[in-house]
Amino acid sequence: AAARECSIVTAEGGVPLVTGEYAEYANFDYAASAPCLTSVAEALSEALPFYASVHRGAGHHSQVSTDAYERARRSVARFLGVRTQADQGGSADAVVFVRGTTDAVNLLARAVPEGCTVVVFESEHHASLLPWEHPASRAAKVVRLPLPESPEAAVGAARAALAEAPEGPRLLCVTAASNVTGEIWPVEELVEAAHAEGARVLVDAAQYVPHLPFSLTGTGADYVALSGHKLYAPFGSGVLAGRADWLREATPYLAGGGATRKVTEHDVVWNDLPARHEAGSPNVLGAVALAAACETFTNRTLSLQHIREAALLERLRAGLAEIDGVHELTLWGAEHARVGIVSFVVDGLPADLLASALSAEYGIGVRDGLFCAHPLTGHLLPEGHTQAVRASLGVGTTEEHVDRLVGAVADLVARGPRWEYADCDGRLAP
Ligand code: PMP
Repeated sequence: AAARECSIVTAEGGVPLVTGEYAEYANFDYAASAPCLTSVAEALSEALPFYASVHRGAGHHSQVSTDAYERARRSVARFLGVRTQADQGGSADAVVFVRGTTDAVNLLARAVPEGCTVVVFESEHHASLLPWEHPASRAAKVVRLPLPESPEAAVGAARAALAEAPEGPRLLCVTAASNVTGEIWPVEELVEAAHAEGARVLVDAAQYVPHLPFSLTGTGADYVALSGHKLYAPFGSGVLAGRADWLREATPYLAGGGATRKVTEHDVVWNDLPARHEAGSPNVLGAVALAAACETFTNRTLSLQHIREAALLERLRAGLAEIDGVHELTLWGAEHARVGIVSFVVDGLPADLLASALSAEYGIGVRDGLFCAHPLTGHLLPEGHTQAVRASLGVGTTEEHVDRLVGAVADLVARGPRWEYADCDGRLAP
């Protein structure tokens, strides 16, 4: 119980965190969900006494909440560098609050115009890979591209696929930073290539925005999707932002209150954006939390955090590289730019066993498995391995954590786990 006491961790030069970070625990699972920032917790506790249903009531709390919700939308818009009306000669980008990246991509899959071809790399997280092929998707054709051998090959393959696509609307869906390898994809070049073919681009920025600034205006991307819980704001909030026309013309993602302007016995007139795709009572606190994280991560804070994290990442990778039998997963080679994520396998130590031993014996939290990116992780696994371990870094990561992880892996390689772990598919260490 003592170990569960909550304390505020302020990493040197970093951003303060609250909740569940305790001294003995080395959290290396930021890529799954990041702990809450103190600024987010403060914004939540300020909003909590006043929350009410938005856009509906004339009462004080409803007005305060509506104001907070729309302010949150403006903060998220600034964070993502959305295009304003003047930028694109008439149509500002829409910022739609959703539940997370999965929700955002599914929404766009239902909003693409009739006859749309969607091009997507097999390396995508399932959230960006699968919605296009779901029965509810409006995509007429989905082209899955194999894993590219280099960033340049990715750009070439995307351009060729878009050029060969049937006449009509086309969309390229691409991740900005891989949740498996952390590798950064050449978003600007992909956008340029897609635009040259008259296609649009959706960027899955779920793993990118907690580490580096992203801007729709700066990259020229047409849409971006992200999740609050990966950006240090708890679950249930996310965003789809981008070109308004497709979203405005599409049938609402969910039918219900808020998405409607007028309903008669025989007819319904749907609302305009963003309410059109936000049916039901909106998640005001989720939006407030996400906005607080966006306000904390200014370009400057993120850039400083990235520098700090890059040093920790290099320390981790260098340490792991020294250990016999450790293999890092990488698509484009160890030198390619990445965010604070490293996935690896250890010969002779199944990933689930390794992860369990790291947790129970060393107080280290990593993730094991295929990370909801089966085609990519499956392809990168060396012979004889069926799963990998992922260590992901964030604002609370310290040198001590990194050294503990490297030391623990070295220790486990040298002498194996101390205990048996019955929940590890029975694959106990020799
Ligand atoms: N895309 C990427 C790259 C991710 O890492 C994740 C989460 N693991 C998602 C999409 C899905 O995010 P969510 O579960 O918040 O919808």
